Amino acid sequence: MAPAGFLSKKRMEDFLKEIGKDALVHVPVLEGNVVVFRPYGQNQTINLERPANAPPKAVIFPQSDTFFTFRFIKDPQDPKKVSVEINPPSDFPEAIIFGCRPCDAKGFKIYDKVYIEANGPDPYYMGRREKTTIITLACPAPSAGCFCTALGGGPAEKDGSDILMTDVGEGFYLEPVTEKGDKLLKAQGVAQLIEDGAKYGQEATKRQKDTHDSVKKPFESINYRDLSRDLFDDDRFWEEMVSKCISCGACTYLCPTCYCFNITDEKTLEQGERLRSWDSCMFKHFTLEASGHNPRPTKFKRYKNRIGHKFLWYPEKYEEIIACCGCGRCIRYCPVSVDISEIVSNLRKTE
Ligand code: SF4
Ligand code: SF4
Repeated sequence: MAPAGFLSKKRMEDFLKEIGKDALVHVPVLEGNVVVFRPYGQNQTINLERPANAPPKAVIFPQSDTFFTFRFIKDPQDPKKVSVEINPPSDFPEAIIFGCRPCDAKGFKIYDKVYIEANGPDPYYMGRREKTTIITLACPAPSAGCFCTALGGGPAEKDGSDILMTDVGEGFYLEPVTEKGDKLLKAQGVAQLIEDGAKYGQEATKRQKDTHDSVKKPFESINYRDLSRDLFDDDRFWEEMVSKCISCGACTYLCPTCYCFNITDEKTLEQGERLRSWDSCMFKHFTLEASGHNPRPTKFKRYKNRIGHKFLWYPEKYEEIIACCGCGRCIRYCPVSVDISEIVSNLRKTE
């Protein structure tokens, strides 16, 4: 692995242009007062100061993904005979996510367990995942609602990143984390823009530690065994915790670790496409059965399921990993300020 490098802020645009020669680069852009990931282009205000409102999960797990297109072909000699032509996507583009936060990158590790490791690879997810390089920026300061350190992560966590950047004032200290990241930094045109990072290492470590220490902790740490099953199964607990929820689903759409979906066919008489689209477990119709029965008819049951998924069942199934990275988005952007960190804290066993 190459030693850490340094990229001057003055050369950032050159760096983006260079890495964009062979890949579609997604950058955090300020639009109005929200920060969203967009393909790198002209007339953009790249924002690295605050985390994007929405994580870049759509780069690898698109909000609406075409599995294949299809066409019905009638036999002109015998109209009763119809064949179906199916066209899967031919390839996935090389992509780079630039400037997301370590918690966003960690979100993809949570997806990997489900979409690659557990049941054999999902070709659509894996196709994009393999072709995407993730360059994260260590958080310069925590945002309201962040609680990553309570979940074992941190503002300079490397797990999930291919390259970790730390703002050291006039530029970024660049640490390659994976072979993929190392290869990108060693590519000829890129290497020419990078200086030796040795003299910035100490400053980067100090800044990383300062931010780490300033993240608020609603609890010291958590394991799924720390949660009270009695409270979890007590309807009154959920009624008390989530009475103000309006079931808008924002918390799931903005979450870098939520991955539920629906599959639909959109078609005319002769052709169409099969789509996978994000869905939300906070919606009433998410579990509505054809019989009319709904096993989760109330917002309390739906929120209980959301917490159960992330803090109990996922860790039970996947190496005790909590399926929440503490990014705080569901707290910051919930229109009625439901606070997942407070709810989980209240759900812990007490003496
Ligand atoms: S964002 Fe808030 S109000 Fe909307 S579904 Fe989530 S918890 Fe409920
Ligand atoms: S549940 Fe909330 S805090 Fe946890 S990863 Fe999702 S949006 Fe972030």
